[in-house]
Amino acid sequence: MNQSCGFPKESIASPFGALPARGVYTLIIFLSKDISLNVGRLGFQSFPRGYYSYTGSALGMGATSLSHRILRHLRKEKRSFWHIDFLLAQEDAAVMSVVAAPTTNRKMECHINSYIKEKCQAKIAIPGFGASDCRKNCGSHLLFSQDNIKDFVLAAYKHFFNGLVFVSNL
Ligand SMILES: [Zn+2]
Repeated sequence: MNQSCGFPKESIASPFGALPARGVYTLIIFLSKDISLNVGRLGFQSFPRGYYSYTGSALGMGATSLSHRILRHLRKEKRSFWHIDFLLAQEDAAVMSVVAAPTTNRKMECHINSYIKEKCQAKIAIPGFGASDCRKNCGSHLLFSQDNIKDFVLAAYKHFFNGLVFVSNL
């Protein structure tokens, strides 16, 4: 694992209820076996067993707030609308942690995603996956790593937000 990605997680542990109203978030997902999945317009795609990060932002209030968005991601029963919904609907896919930070800057999701990808060598799992709102040519907001990607994600949030990071382990 890349040395620069090490991070003492205890220092930023926070209860789920303390999420900011608006901000950027990353889901850390573990897929327990290789699967092939129909992802809407992207068609059938292969997802290898391993760890994934999915980074987005929720910049509204009420139904479009950060906590509503994350709770929606965590519900298995729903109509698949975003690419990530197709993956999270699978029995073998589990959200392990949620990392979030307050911001009103939509580009921040791209900065976080790029940092995880470039500094920590996580890979694009499926080109175009979760990139419809992308402001920076990320290629995808779903990144893959065979090793646990959590330290990569925490390092990215520490880089951009320092102390203002919320972590919830599920
Ligand atoms: Zn992007």
